[in-house]
Amino acid sequence: NVDSVAQNHPGEYFRSLAGRLGEPVIRSATKHAMRILGEQFVLGRTIESAIKRGRGWKAHGGVQPLFSFDMLGEGARTQADALRYHQKYLDAIASVSMKRQGGAVESVDGVSIKLTALHPRYLAVKEAQVMEQLYPRVLEQARAARKADIGFNLDAEESDRLVMQLKIFERLAREPGLADWGGLGIVIQAYQKRARFVLDKLVELGRDCGRRFQVRLVKGAYWDTEIKLAQMNGQADFPVWTTKPATDLNYLACARVMLAAPDAIYAQFATHNAHTLCAVREIARELGARGYEFQRLHGMGEPLYAAAAEVHEDLGPVRVYAPVGSHEDLLPYLVRRLLENGANTSFVHAFLDKGVPAEDVAKSPFDAAQTLDRHPFIPIPPKLYGPQRPNSAGIDLTQKAVQERLARAQDAFDACAPYDCSPLVSGEALSGGGAVLQSSPVRDSFVVSRLREATSQDVGQAYEAARAAQPAWDALGGAARAALLRKMADALEREVDRLLALMVRETGKTLSDGIAEVREAVDFLRYYAVEAETKFGDAVRLPGPAGETNHLALSGRGVFVCISPWNFPLAIFTGQLAAALAAGNTVLAKPAEQSPLIAFEAVKLYQKVGLPVDVLHLLPGDGAIGAALTRLAHVDGVAFTGSTTVARVINRTLAAREGSIVPLIAETGGLNAMFVDTSALHEQVIDDAILSAFGSAGQRCSALRVLLIPEETADHMIAGLKGAMDVLELGDPCNPAVDVGPVIDAQAHKMLCEHVDRMASEATVLHRAPLDEVLAAQGRFFAPALVEISSLDQISEEKFGPVLHVLRYKRAELGQVARRLAAKGYGLTLGVHTRLDRFAREVCELVPAGNRYVNRNITGAVVGVQPFGGEGLSGTGPKAGGPHYIYRFASERTMTINVAAGGGDPELLNLG
Ligand code: FAD
Ligand code: NAD
Repeated sequence: NVDSVAQNHPGEYFRSLAGRLGEPVIRSATKHAMRILGEQFVLGRTIESAIKRGRGWKAHGGVQPLFSFDMLGEGARTQADALRYHQKYLDAIASVSMKRQGGAVESVDGVSIKLTALHPRYLAVKEAQVMEQLYPRVLEQARAARKADIGFNLDAEESDRLVMQLKIFERLAREPGLADWGGLGIVIQAYQKRARFVLDKLVELGRDCGRRFQVRLVKGAYWDTEIKLAQMNGQADFPVWTTKPATDLNYLACARVMLAAPDAIYAQFATHNAHTLCAVREIARELGARGYEFQRLHGMGEPLYAAAAEVHEDLGPVRVYAPVGSHEDLLPYLVRRLLENGANTSFVHAFLDKGVPAEDVAKSPFDAAQTLDRHPFIPIPPKLYGPQRPNSAGIDLTQKAVQERLARAQDAFDACAPYDCSPLVSGEALSGGGAVLQSSPVRDSFVVSRLREATSQDVGQAYEAARAAQPAWDALGGAARAALLRKMADALEREVDRLLALMVRETGKTLSDGIAEVREAVDFLRYYAVEAETKFGDAVRLPGPAGETNHLALSGRGVFVCISPWNFPLAIFTGQLAAALAAGNTVLAKPAEQSPLIAFEAVKLYQKVGLPVDVLHLLPGDGAIGAALTRLAHVDGVAFTGSTTVARVINRTLAAREGSIVPLIAETGGLNAMFVDTSALHEQVIDDAILSAFGSAGQRCSALRVLLIPEETADHMIAGLKGAMDVLELGDPCNPAVDVGPVIDAQAHKMLCEHVDRMASEATVLHRAPLDEVLAAQGRFFAPALVEISSLDQISEEKFGPVLHVLRYKRAELGQVARRLAAKGYGLTLGVHTRLDRFAREVCELVPAGNRYVNRNITGAVVGVQPFGGEGLSGTGPKAGGPHYIYRFASERTMTINVAAGGGDPELLNLG
């Protein structure tokens, strides 16, 4: 009975076991089980033990297998991690060299390395830094491998790293010190659509350098990640094939290219698939190719190669990719293997499934050629949300050509600054009165705009025009309004380069934040277009049992005031307007005083795509203009996003007005926390905490302010955070490599300095990110700070900037800590990092926040879970995209027609 519960309901079984034995016992048993599972895929804990164990093997036909040793560990987050992995690789190369077998480089053991292990920011946008810091490490390793004449292979990782990997590889290939060596190797993934072209280039490179590379062809291990990243990043298409037969066929096409160029490529075919193995052999036979090898992973493919060796005497060498290391570094690798073995498309999975007939297991990919390029259930990124709502288009900053294009747009924008900016009332840019010069947070001396602020007279004029225009706008209907919103979305996408340049200067947005911002605005527009169409169409007929006909319709309330903050100067500005306009309201829009120009451009674009000029008016200015707008006697609603303090002021102003009681939609600040438990994946906590707390210079309502970490892992976590802070780059946000731009103004800077000073005396400032003196002197760049507090009482309100507070907690005190956080009265966002559902549930129940991000991801790769602090895949996170949001902009009207006889619902009237 116990066995059947354990098998059929493992969750229940473990819960009851944990209840009886206690968590520590279960934890150590699980660790033990992991170790056993790990041994299946890991050859040894140390390189020496792995070499010894491997050499003890007798493989097929009595032939000793060859090895490529891989030191477990990837994805360094700090320079300390990277240096530790670097040393491990050097030690491994030394050990393999010492035990080198005799013979040519192709017939001896080698090593495989992962470039993500060698640098904490191995990213295409950080190319200069990578070449300066990572390259010397990989060169040192390659020199050591060359000295002993062993194989040295650069593993393939995520596809956006391919170009960087190739650049590093080409540099190594052209190093004079590495000449006359056949061990330099690289891995190519056949699931990538570029694979064949990359191989052509490698052949060219080999011939150009007069050398032969070891090239391992794999299908690719990050498929799920590639699919999700492409969808999230709004790419035009996937970089990888979406059907398994397409990958299988591409593998064979690549194999042909490799086997046809034996002078430039020593081909290594890594597969556990019987059909692939046989097809490669066929191609080799057809081309008369000799001197190539097969490879398999340790723990996989033994039966296949044993069987192949029995059938083919001339099978040749089979090399085993042998991971080495301890269980601490095992998880990402292990999860990839488990995913691979568990995937129903996998050969190994089908092979082990007795229910799958042999002919299906070894099916030829050519049979499936009809449906090659498109998987029917995997929408391409632009179609992610179905036919009604195209996904917003992303911009791939990793591409050099894109970087250059954006640099040109920046130059063009900068060259014409400052720009005139003014109220736009009934389509007219109002002039007259003095102009205020708006300088950039990036550089005080850079004047972005000459702003003529709105006056109370402008407010009155705009109100009258908006009031007069509203009935016609409302009568236009949801479908026509939707069409305009969609046109606006398309216009934003067309103008994206200029909008990015503008936001870089006006609000100090980094390019990647700017891209997310434009996409969010586009998503809002398309989202509300669907809402307008579906909710503001024809009246809905309701049941009418008593001889009457009832209709329900939604319509605009009238004139809406929309007041927005500077930190999402386009997305929130546009989003508020889009919702209000979709519902049939006309709008008086007031952007934040720090970001009038982007709002000015947005309103002009709205008008350009055909929005009637009296429907939307722009009234830039400071809080006084906001106050004047909310005091207007007859506005029909206010949408506000900004600080809690101002929201309260507006609430009181509206309450004090005579006249009708109108809705106030207020989105305010947050004191956002993330709870981490001991099961959370260290690297992912670091990634998410750094991105959420310091991305956008901490100037997001959803930014992480308090990280709650368990005592057991706190020291390790804090060391990781410090190391990751050390590699953050501050600077001019027009540089794609910059992670953190300036804070919005001198006042914000002063407030943050005072807060950190206070923390230095009342708590402990653990660390600051590096900030160079020149930037520091400008008074707008604030070095991200890590502060340890001993109690939540030490912080009471949102501090809008890059300051992360950490608090250690004891497991037994979780409830107490969570309740204290909830009592702070903020409930914007909440993050949870755990692999335990129970922990996530417990925290979510204790802290009633609006947006909850639970990261249960265990793969070390992004699999459809947004990082904490992201605004949602679509940009329309639950806060504004929620199903009830749009109703607050609408008024509901029912119409009842009572006809003495013959009206009403026939079905309901039929009492008989
Ligand atoms: P099969 O079951 O025939 O193929 C499974 C593969 O097909 C999946 O992994 C995926 O790539 C592809 N696939 C599955 N479904 C789809 C779909 N719907 N659309 C498109 N493609 C699909 N991987 C790396 O990424 N980088 C490396 O450096 C690397 N080194 C390796 C070294 C060795 C020696 C070996 C044996 C493997 C290595 N791998 C590496 C892992 C390798 O990518 C996987 O083991 C391999 O994809 C499994 O292919 P197969 O032919 O054994 O199995
Ligand atoms: P803020 O409250 O200072 O200003 C917001 C807007 O209100 C500006 O346009 C400002 O001019 C206007 N305003 C100021 N005084 C006013 C008054 N008396 N009457 C009417 N309008 C007035 O906020 P900010 O500094 O621009 O933005 C940062 C704040 O916004 C942070 O607290 C952040 O958490 C919050 N925010 C919240 C969300 C969300 O979705 N919840 C999103 C972004 C920003």
